[in-house]
Amino acid sequence: MTSIKDNIASIEVQISQACKNANRLTNEVILLAVSKTKPIDLIEQAYLAGQREFGESYVQESVEKIAKLTHLTDICWHFIGPIQSNKTRQIAENFSWVHSVDRIKIAKRLDGHRYGQDTPLSICLQVNISGETSKSGVTIEQLPELINFVENCENLKLRGLMAIPEKNAPAQAFSQMYKLFLALQEQHPDVDTLSMGMSADLEAAITAGSTMVRVGSAIFGQREYK
Ligand SMILES: *Cc1c(COP(=O)(O)O)cnc(C)c1O
Repeated sequence: MTSIKDNIASIEVQISQACKNANRLTNEVILLAVSKTKPIDLIEQAYLAGQREFGESYVQESVEKIAKLTHLTDICWHFIGPIQSNKTRQIAENFSWVHSVDRIKIAKRLDGHRYGQDTPLSICLQVNISGETSKSGVTIEQLPELINFVENCENLKLRGLMAIPEKNAPAQAFSQMYKLFLALQEQHPDVDTLSMGMSADLEAAITAGSTMVRVGSAIFGQREYK
């Protein structure tokens, strides 16, 4: 079995190769290690290998893990899973980033629950780029209204967009996301993140302009459930 450290090193090579092929700089793409369902000792191994950004999808599980890893003071937690409105307090209190905001109601609750903390919550808006196949994500038509809402939330900081293109999605889906990202950046110059690409499609995502890839199984191994 290869080690977590080796897996991260090989993903970093894949990222830099994809960047080179796309005439991009390697440091334009951040690796988010998706540790959902995985135990804290594997997260610690990744941390020791230099990894700092971690993604989680399940609130109860992640809050327990975060509480056990507070000694890793510069670790950065990103929530990337579907959001139920009764979980927004725990998300706002435990995470630095949320990638999966797809409706005003959730943004409003996260903003309220973030009140009083030192830093605003970094937000990516999840866009349903592959249409009917996924129920999560705001439609392109409803995106401007959601952007406008989040921009006006005092305790949220709009960082960019997130997408989960369907399996074997055409390159066009990835490039359409990049166009939306550029348009958003034009309106809001401090937007810096296009969260797109997972273990199986990180090259296509980087080629299209992704700035953050969310990689789980290629680092931590296949998940047994979920
Ligand atoms: C699980 C998950 C990932 C990681 O998927 P892998 O295929 O294991 O790399 C990325 N993004 C989201 C939103 C996820 O839920």
